[in-house]
Amino acid sequence: MTATDLQTIGMTDPFGRAITYLRVSVTDRCDLRCVYCMSEDMTFLPKADLLTLEELDRLCSVFIAKGVRKLRLTGGEPLVRRNMISLLRSLSRHLVSGKLDELTLTTNGSLLSKFAGELADCGVRRINVSLDTLDAARFRSITRWGDLNKVLEGIRAAQAAGLRVKINAVALKNVNEEEIPSLIEWAHGEGMDITLIEVMPLGDIGEGRIDQYVPLSLIRARLEQQFSLTDLAERTGGPARYVRVRETGGKLGFITPLTHNFCEACNRVRITCTGTIHTCLGQEDAADLRRPLRASPDNAQLEAAIDRAIGTKPKGHDFVIDRRHNRPSVGRHMSVTGG
Ligand code: SAM
Ligand code: SF4
Repeated sequence: MTATDLQTIGMTDPFGRAITYLRVSVTDRCDLRCVYCMSEDMTFLPKADLLTLEELDRLCSVFIAKGVRKLRLTGGEPLVRRNMISLLRSLSRHLVSGKLDELTLTTNGSLLSKFAGELADCGVRRINVSLDTLDAARFRSITRWGDLNKVLEGIRAAQAAGLRVKINAVALKNVNEEEIPSLIEWAHGEGMDITLIEVMPLGDIGEGRIDQYVPLSLIRARLEQQFSLTDLAERTGGPARYVRVRETGGKLGFITPLTHNFCEACNRVRITCTGTIHTCLGQEDAADLRRPLRASPDNAQLEAAIDRAIGTKPKGHDFVIDRRHNRPSVGRHMSVTGG
């Protein structure tokens, strides 16, 4: 048995899946209001409910000691959390010690020009930037008030700082469907991989999902009329399936929670900014880690609570979007759980 096997024994779920990937939402707040993610008048959590940066560090470090090898900070928008860089800097000690393989984040890119250099200094090597369109007016309407130029500048700054950028784009019916081929050509032309995501029924957004949802099977069939796509064997333990686009030479991912179930190899759990663990993105399961975290400076209670939560990780989700199921499957917004 290898050292890694020994480490992950405590983090194996009832279906034999080793939990090696932790995603942490460091804030539920955001400087944008994407129409598929949030309602316009979101009520955010009181700041007093949030874990402090020191508590987030301790929580992540316990997970790392229990076998997590990849840590992604997300939100809400992670870069709007004050002193985020100090948290990253502190967590980077686990990269230096070799206990962590990757420290990364998912961002909307709007603050990247300010932070790209510091991210690189903290040992971040790759980031995901969410961008659904290259049309400034459409970007403004999807995000309700965002400025596309800031995101494009942020991406350039990240690349200049040596970060590898992957673009995530949500496919939105009648909104950016037609633009997807050019978005792929742009991303690949700029040396970035791109992953397309199906809209998931998470949280009340003040309108139905049926108007937003377009199956990626349909998008893929359309792309195949224009591009030659070759399936890649690559798996990350996550929902994405990848293809190579011959015409551009770049890699394209599909995240299809609705048209294909992706749970059998799931290696991840998520923590909210208030210290709630969700072991499945698509189920209402939840356990509080904040109370055991605060109960004692010793980690024993916290570790026991983590083990109990992992021991109840569901087999998978059952998202449905159709005319009869046009309500959220899960009440939490993606910005709370951490996308
Ligand atoms: N604010 C950051 C960003 O936008 O990248 C990080 C958090 S955001 C919740 C993470 C990802 O979730 C983004 O790529 C976003 O497009 C995606 N997302 C949000 N709500 C979603 C939904 N209902 N269905 C599918 N993807 C969603
Ligand atoms: Fe903010 Fe990201 Fe949600 Fe858009 S997808 S509202 S950028 S958290």
